[in-house]
Amino acid sequence: MDGRTLQERDRQALSALQKLRFFPLSVTAGAGCMLVEEGGRQLLDLSAAWGAASLGYAHPALNLAVAEAMASQAGASILSSTNAPAVELAEKLLDLVPGSDDRRVWLGHSGSDANEMVARAVPEATRRPRIMAFSGAYHGGTLGSMSISGHFAQEGVEKHRGLILVPYPDPYRPFGDDPGGGALLAHIEHLLQAEGTGEEVGCFFMEPIQSDGGMIVPPPGFLSRLSDLCRRYGILTVCDEVKVGLGRPGRLNCFEHEDFTPDILVLGKGLGGGLPISAVAGPSRIMDHARAYSMQTLHGNPICASAALAVLSTIEADGLAGNADTVGRVLIEEIMRATSSTECVGDVRGRGLAIGVELVKDGTSEPNPDLARKTVFRAWQLGAVLYSVGMHSNVLELTPPLILTESQAKFAAETIAQAIKDAHMGLVGDDDISDFTGW
Ligand code: PMP
Repeated sequence: MDGRTLQERDRQALSALQKLRFFPLSVTAGAGCMLVEEGGRQLLDLSAAWGAASLGYAHPALNLAVAEAMASQAGASILSSTNAPAVELAEKLLDLVPGSDDRRVWLGHSGSDANEMVARAVPEATRRPRIMAFSGAYHGGTLGSMSISGHFAQEGVEKHRGLILVPYPDPYRPFGDDPGGGALLAHIEHLLQAEGTGEEVGCFFMEPIQSDGGMIVPPPGFLSRLSDLCRRYGILTVCDEVKVGLGRPGRLNCFEHEDFTPDILVLGKGLGGGLPISAVAGPSRIMDHARAYSMQTLHGNPICASAALAVLSTIEADGLAGNADTVGRVLIEEIMRATSSTECVGDVRGRGLAIGVELVKDGTSEPNPDLARKTVFRAWQLGAVLYSVGMHSNVLELTPPLILTESQAKFAAETIAQAIKDAHMGLVGDDDISDFTGW
């Protein structure tokens, strides 16, 4: 070409509105959990592109399914005709999510469009105009999904007119000094009782692990109790498992860690293994409600549906939820061990391969976002790819491919511990990261 690096050409050609960069990674290839960057260096990917590359890179089952669909059915969708992969995928997803009432599946392209559809369909179908959600939640990057999101990244956007935000149950930074979540539940019930609010709320959006808000795992039993509360008020529960579903949490669905089943389940990211597809499963009275129509030309296209079918069958055939559970435990234990002498690690938490490492100012619980940004930069230098998240931008997020091995987990823990240590010692300067805005 003209001698410019991919990074330089990227800066001059691609809009900054689509970038969330922490270091200058230029990917040229990938295989399994490894990425190859420009220049040939290999890195262990502990992000899997924020959870999307659920099977890792160049998985033969995924490659084959996509190539076959591309060769035979490119261009079709479910808008004005039907196709076998889309129907089969919908049937599979209905089987996956328990529930006795009549249900349907809606297929989309991203977590954003899926959540947006739910935020529109529920108020219209239930005639309840209000929506409850958690502060810190990232439900998407389109106007509608942003309007129900409580994450700071969506602060500039006008909120849904009926949105009620409540704090997320965070055992590390508990609401009302109650790590069990009882005070928060009482607060939510109080809001529902106020001036008939309970009858106006159509649904409650919940992430069973709050991912972009900080990989926060709620206290045991909290979501079941919240679900009971919603049921008492006739409020539908919506589980946004876009990042933490489909095997990643060590079970097929993250809600299976609790004794409850959501009314509506939203899936995305890892569902397509890298291709753009999302899905919503929910009651037909919502999903078939005629006035809430929501269509885009390529919804349910056979290429992405075939990719999703390959992902689901590989997760099942290769026991990847079980692998996520086992390797995730090793990863958490090893990180705890390798960082035990470090005073700047406040909390290590997670389920399966959805893990967060909270970085704090030494010996306190005060968030340390500067250390987090420098740690992920240093980790990239040392050969591991991970990013930071959280309402204080101080949590290292690990969402590696579900095929991660124990030896890769051990390397990951050592690398993360070393990166924290190096960044803490000042090996990464402000100048190194000044071009990368992060969140
Ligand atoms: N929901 C959750 C829980 C997410 O983490 C994200 C993306 N970070 C989204 C929705 C939006 O998904 P997408 O970027 O695929 O539109």
